[in-house]
Amino acid sequence: MKKYLIFILALVLISFPIFETKPQITFAQTSNQELITLDNVETFISRAGNNRSAYSSGEKTASAYLAQKMQENNLSYYKSSTSYIYEFSVGINKSQNVIGVQKSAKDNAKTVILGAHYDNVYNFNGETTYSNGVFDNGSGVLCLLAIMKELTKLQLPYNIIYVFYGAEETGLHGSKNFVFNLSALEIKNTIMAFNFDSIGVGDYTYYYSGDSANSYKEIFANNNYNIKEMPQNKRINLLTNFEGYAYTHIGLMSDNTAYLKKNIKCTTFFSGNLSHSGTGYIESENKNNISHTKNDNLLYITENYPNFLSSINNVANLTISTLILEDFEERIEKSNNEINLFFLNNKVVIGSIFLVGILILFALKPKSLRQKLN
Ligand SMILES: [Zn+2]
Repeated sequence: MKKYLIFILALVLISFPIFETKPQITFAQTSNQELITLDNVETFISRAGNNRSAYSSGEKTASAYLAQKMQENNLSYYKSSTSYIYEFSVGINKSQNVIGVQKSAKDNAKTVILGAHYDNVYNFNGETTYSNGVFDNGSGVLCLLAIMKELTKLQLPYNIIYVFYGAEETGLHGSKNFVFNLSALEIKNTIMAFNFDSIGVGDYTYYYSGDSANSYKEIFANNNYNIKEMPQNKRINLLTNFEGYAYTHIGLMSDNTAYLKKNIKCTTFFSGNLSHSGTGYIESENKNNISHTKNDNLLYITENYPNFLSSINNVANLTISTLILEDFEERIEKSNNEINLFFLNNKVVIGSIFLVGILILFALKPKSLRQKLN
């Protein structure tokens, strides 16, 4: 008996230093942790501000708050920078991205890029909307902050670049500035990018990974995170191939497009309803859209969307569980990267087809249309 005790004691002593290093994750976690709380949302809004409009002093204040969060998580600066904040110009206006790096100890480690825009539309086109941007895009920012907090506890076999984009709402400027300045080598070394934009308000949560059938999107469906057992309103649905206007439209409306244009694998998470009876994208059936309106505030959202926080938590948990899959890098690298850029790069062609369709419709003039016109 004594022998066993000494043996166990020796084992504990030998293994003790292991506890001081960051844990090596070799399997996907299956638990759904509450990583984002109401308290986090309140803190973000009070510290980053209600008005984070592109080019405003409010946007600058928000960027300083996010830089502080990167500092708290001991992220390194990006490239040769001496700050997390990267200013860029859009015409005469100035905005800024906030960028930090979690470096891998592995030699020649490749990189994953995780991003979310932090500006909102409190002021837009000379009008004040009073939109606090809790949904668009406080949700994405909080999701990414929670992921950062968890992943920086781990030793990972790849680097992670965390980037909060400025000036998304005025034309995806932050992501364009970041992606179009990546070197050919950086692009080659990017395993994939993730984008988080407007999660938790709306009937369903979706992710979009490009149009090819045989692509890397399967990794989200097949990991250990049990999305299939979850109630419908919390599920993260896999978008199938081209389903019409709504799908192409909404799937390509955020900071993921710059990556897709550069042929970098990118998955974007967002909420809404694409299976309603009408056409186009809506957030919810029987409810007003809240993005870019004064209803995009915490009180309205918590009263009308009880699943707001759990949806953001689902996306954070899904992302983390995917990123810590033992074969994550291998599976992504092996997966098809035929991003169908046709709809992205042929707006003129698509527009022309649409126009011809309308002209044909008018030329044929169905009975109902004729009655309407007369
Ligand atoms: Zn947005």
